[in-house]
Amino acid sequence: MKIDFAKEDLTKLQDFLSVPRRITLLGHVSPDGDAVGSTLGFTSLLGTLGHSATVVYPTAYSDSFVFLPGASEALIAKNKPEEALRAIREAEGLFCLDFNETKRVEQLAAPLEESEALKLLIDHHPYPSDFADLSFSYPDRSSTCLIVYELIRAMGWRDRLSTEAATAIYTGMMTDTGNFAYNSEDPEIYQVISELLELGVRKDAVYDAINRSFTIDKLRLTAHLMADKLTFFPQYKTAIITLSMADKGKYNYQTGDVEGLVNDPLAAKEIEFSILIHEMPKYTKISMRSKGSFAVNDFASKFFNGGGHTNAAGAEVCDTLSNTYKLVETAVRILHP
Ligand code: 5GP
Ligand code: MN
Repeated sequence: MKIDFAKEDLTKLQDFLSVPRRITLLGHVSPDGDAVGSTLGFTSLLGTLGHSATVVYPTAYSDSFVFLPGASEALIAKNKPEEALRAIREAEGLFCLDFNETKRVEQLAAPLEESEALKLLIDHHPYPSDFADLSFSYPDRSSTCLIVYELIRAMGWRDRLSTEAATAIYTGMMTDTGNFAYNSEDPEIYQVISELLELGVRKDAVYDAINRSFTIDKLRLTAHLMADKLTFFPQYKTAIITLSMADKGKYNYQTGDVEGLVNDPLAAKEIEFSILIHEMPKYTKISMRSKGSFAVNDFASKFFNGGGHTNAAGAEVCDTLSNTYKLVETAVRILHP
């Protein structure tokens, strides 16, 4: 089913964009395919409509998304903090895509909250907080990119969508459904894909750029983690993988090298809950995936103040890898599939 947008919201957006605007689009920390695709796709369209749009991410995206047009122009706040702050402070519109609580943009949360700009939210995570002036929140949709496309169509801008923008939008639809393997039974997804193909998207090339462009180091790191760093708890149908700074050094780890890896243990019929504990220089990141009805976002929020979707969630813990492992193991003993 197409999204039945509220007329009033579409009119508000139309009114705001009726004159050329300076707009900054924000994606969440460690932006994934959906964050990168939705921000780059929407930015490209805003440019076509005569606005001046800039993309800001708190931290870098994975090399897998370098192929997307406009990716190299995005500002990474961690690398260019002053420029990123200026982009937020000088914006007339702050468009927040693929996140729904300000803490997801970490060091940019305060400037975002303090800004007087019109705040627009486009997102599909459950439990949205209400920091935005105009909110397009649809937790039943499989990706923010899908919502962005439907919004563009509802606003009557489909003809202004370039092949490049369409490609960025397709990318997030593909990555947030694991290449249309889960959350992907809504027929609307395939209507939209058909329309994106008409716009010139080369979907097989997008698949190759993201899933068949690994380095050999990444391949070997993945094999090492699966063989030597996966602990299986048969009684809880759970697997926990740990990724240490030491292993990252040994395998020449690049940002994004473990993207998607947390899904792999779910290939085993004995595993319904998969956890990746990833050591970063100053904290530890936890990624969680499940198949079936076990809600990993509840697990993430109950024990680690994190969040996400039923089958995909994350959290950050300010502790060492070994301490975080103990916490996760304890949490699994309490709550598991
Ligand atoms: P990933 O494991 O791929 O980083 O994230 C999976 C899902 O959980 C994504 O929808 C992401 O937005 C959400 N997520 C990841 N980390 C966090 C976190 O620290 N806090 C919250 N609230 N959500 C997260
Ligand atoms: Mn998403």
